Amino acid sequence: MQVIRTFGEMQAAVNARKRAGQTIALVPTMGALHDGHATLMRQTPAAAVVVSIYVNPTQFGPTEDFTKYPRTLDADCALCEQAGVALVFAPTDAEMYPNGVAAVSTWVDEVQVARRLEGERRPGHFRGVCTVVAKLFNIVRPDLAVFGQKDFQQLKVIQRLVRDLRYPITIIPVPTVRAADGLALSSRNRYLTHAERAHAPSLWQALTAARDLFLAGERDPARLQAGLRATLAAVPGLRLDYAAIAEAETLEPVRVVQAGNVILLAAYLGQTRLIDNLLLP
Ligand code: AMP
Repeated sequence: MQVIRTFGEMQAAVNARKRAGQTIALVPTMGALHDGHATLMRQTPAAAVVVSIYVNPTQFGPTEDFTKYPRTLDADCALCEQAGVALVFAPTDAEMYPNGVAAVSTWVDEVQVARRLEGERRPGHFRGVCTVVAKLFNIVRPDLAVFGQKDFQQLKVIQRLVRDLRYPITIIPVPTVRAADGLALSSRNRYLTHAERAHAPSLWQALTAARDLFLAGERDPARLQAGLRATLAAVPGLRLDYAAIAEAETLEPVRVVQAGNVILLAAYLGQTRLIDNLLLP
C-alpha cells in the first residue's frame, strides 16, 4: 500500500493503474478510521481502492471541533492496509487549497438538498464538503466513489453534485455500520465520556421506535416527531438539535409519511454532536 501526499504523485499512481486496466474506487474520509470506514473500503473488491484521509478545514464552522478532531494517521494506514486498500491519499492543506484555506477563491456549492437540516445548523458545511469532494474527484478521477448513509444528507448532496457537474462517477451508498447496542460508529464517538456513551444508543432506539409506530400505521410526521422528542427528552445529558422526517432525495419535509422517507436526528450529548438516521421500510 502506497501513502501519497501530493496531487502530482496521486495522478501518476492513478494513471499507472488506469493504464493497467484497473477500476478506481475512492473512499473519502477525515481519518480516525473505524469499522464503518473499513466497510466502505470493502464494497468494491474488484477495484483499486484509494482512501483519502484529510480533515477538511472548510467544512468546519468557527465554533466546531476542527482543531480537536482526532488525527491518527499511523493507525489509519494500518486499518487501510488490513482492508486491502491500494493507495492512501493524505494531502496537506497547501496541496488541497493552493490559495490558502483562509482565502479560498473557488467554491463548489450545492444549494438545494444542502439547504435544510445540517446545512441550516452548520452554515458553509456542505460548501466545504462539496468543494473538497470535487477536488478529490478531480485529483483521483475515480470510476466509483463510496459514501456512508450515516451522513445521509451528505450522500444526497454528493449524488446531486455528481449529477449536476456531470462527473462520470458511480456513487455507492453503504448502510450505516453500528455497534452491537445500535450506536452508529463515528469518529466523534471517542469524545464521549463513559456515561455519555452509555446513553448514546438512545438515538437509534428513538429512531427504531418511530419506525415501529410508522409500521403500526402512523402517517402524521408531527406525531412521529413528538414521539422522538419525548423519547429523547428523557435521556440525561442529551439535547436534541433536530428530529425531522423528510423526502429521501430532496430532504424536504413531508406532510404524510411514506415508505422510503427518512427520519433524521441530530443531538448533543454533552459537547459532542451526534447524527443518525433511518430509512422507513
Ligand atoms: P468521515 O471520516 O466521518 O468524514 O466519514 C467518511 C465516510 O465514512 C463518509 O462517507 C461517512 O458517511 C462514512 N461513515 C462514517 N461512519 C460510518 C458508519 N458508521 N457506517 C457507514 N459509513 C460511515
